Amino acid sequence: MAGFSMLLPADPKAGFLAHEAEIRGAIDRVLASGHYILGPEVAAFEQAFAAYLGGGHCAGVADGTEAIELALRAVGVAPGDRVATVGNTVSATIAAVQQIGAVPVYVEIDPSTMVMCPVALSRVLAAEGGRIKAVLPVHLYGYPADMPAISAAAVAHGAVVVEDCAQAHGARIDGRAVGTWGAAAAFSFYPTKNLGALGDGGGVFSRDQAVIERVRLLRQYGWKTRYWSEVAGRNSRLDELQAAILRVKLTHLDAENARRRALAARYHERLAGTALRLPTTRVGHVGVVHQFAVRTPRREALKTCLLEQGIACGVLYPFPVYKQPAYAAPSVALPVTERACEEVLCLPCHPGITGTDVDRVSDAILHWERSS
Ligand SMILES: *Cc1c(COP(=O)(O)O)cnc(C)c1O
Repeated sequence: MAGFSMLLPADPKAGFLAHEAEIRGAIDRVLASGHYILGPEVAAFEQAFAAYLGGGHCAGVADGTEAIELALRAVGVAPGDRVATVGNTVSATIAAVQQIGAVPVYVEIDPSTMVMCPVALSRVLAAEGGRIKAVLPVHLYGYPADMPAISAAAVAHGAVVVEDCAQAHGARIDGRAVGTWGAAAAFSFYPTKNLGALGDGGGVFSRDQAVIERVRLLRQYGWKTRYWSEVAGRNSRLDELQAAILRVKLTHLDAENARRRALAARYHERLAGTALRLPTTRVGHVGVVHQFAVRTPRREALKTCLLEQGIACGVLYPFPVYKQPAYAAPSVALPVTERACEEVLCLPCHPGITGTDVDRVSDAILHWERSS
């Protein structure tokens, strides 16, 4: 490995160094301001991010998990309600549902795109006979779920849609940003996300101002005005330092997403002839390649071989959430989901690497295929 730098599945430090002077300037501005929680930087970021998504309203919250929880609560999901979602996501998606006391209902994924299958959703909605209160698709790896079809199925059964956009800041369907298709959307600004802070952060977006007003109540003790709790709220606030950093990062998001797509295009070119299953994008969809997720039944062998050459890959996610002890649902069996979890391998693909790095990974994969 000598002479090689380690390639990482994500590199938040590179994301800081790329904009270091601007970020340090933003931090100094906040330090000198005397406002540290829910102040002018948060308000300015909320406005800028809502405008970036095409217009609407945004409320900054503490992290992506709470963004999902508060978005669901703001559109009316209550204890005991049933929420249709997927199993090949980070357990945080399910934790958000359970924090409300709501019940996750798992929907099978599409075998080629690995996001929620609208046909499977329709089947679940029909089988549940109107008991599904909300549908929570995940735009996994930065590639949009099929929102027109998912929304149509949800509307037909009286369910509301909340989008988990934690991996898909800036992804679009027919020119319209993900996050704007449902009644509300949740974003994470965890440092490794496409739009990442330098600490925890999250945001709820909605085109409906009333939804965001409810999030604003819920995120701070249910306060309508100071010291007057209108509803039973909690503490889930975004701080000024993270908001100021996010304002800087937001101005670079489109360029960085374009860079991720260029790196992905290079992987597609280099790996087209291999036995790996490469990500597919539907017509009209523009993804933001949070992860470049390939599939192979020989995942562990390839992962080990690449690691020996200084290439660290991610596995998002190795286990369906419904198989993990905290969320175990023994009656759930989704073969397409389970197979995806067994086969998926995320190659380094983020703005901290170069086309030459993609070539190095691709060469290593081609060599592995020839010699195994
Ligand atoms: C990161 C992530 C979350 C959780 O976000 P946090 O900010 O870590 O709480 C939820 N859903 C998905 C799909 C994610 O990738």
